[in-house]
Amino acid sequence: MRTTIAAWPLDAPPPADVPAGFRLPCARVGRDLRHLPSGARLPDGARWELSEEPGSGFLLGLGSARGLRYTLEADPYLPPGQLTALVAEQVQDHVTGYEFLQWPTCPGHVHLLVPAADPDDGERARWHCRRSGRPLVRIGDLRTGPWATT
Ligand SMILES: [Zn+2]
Repeated sequence: MRTTIAAWPLDAPPPADVPAGFRLPCARVGRDLRHLPSGARLPDGARWELSEEPGSGFLLGLGSARGLRYTLEADPYLPPGQLTALVAEQVQDHVTGYEFLQWPTCPGHVHLLVPAADPDDGERARWHCRRSGRPLVRIGDLRTGPWATT
């Protein structure tokens, strides 16, 4: 029997009853979701949903009025970088597969960026170019248009 713990807006901090480990990953990916392809938008009421299922642990997903959702068995005790990359990957799979949005795309290329935990910093994760494998931007710092070249 699945128990819903909380639901909250994509770019808002989670409520207090959400385990602290979800705070950074959801805030970062939620912030990057503001930068969808021009003209594209998520369904009304898109939000994070966290539930708990005996035997599975925590299930994190996206919900909306018309049932946009995926569920990821998510461990809040993973290092923040690893959990950020995992959440980013699941959300990307969902929005490309079900919402038909290419998010996020590589500047200068047409492919999607690939999320991965930063090997040197357990707190962080980055979006990478699929072709060069190079890290381009931290997850949570995505921008539309020309990127700052710092
Ligand atoms: Zn690229």
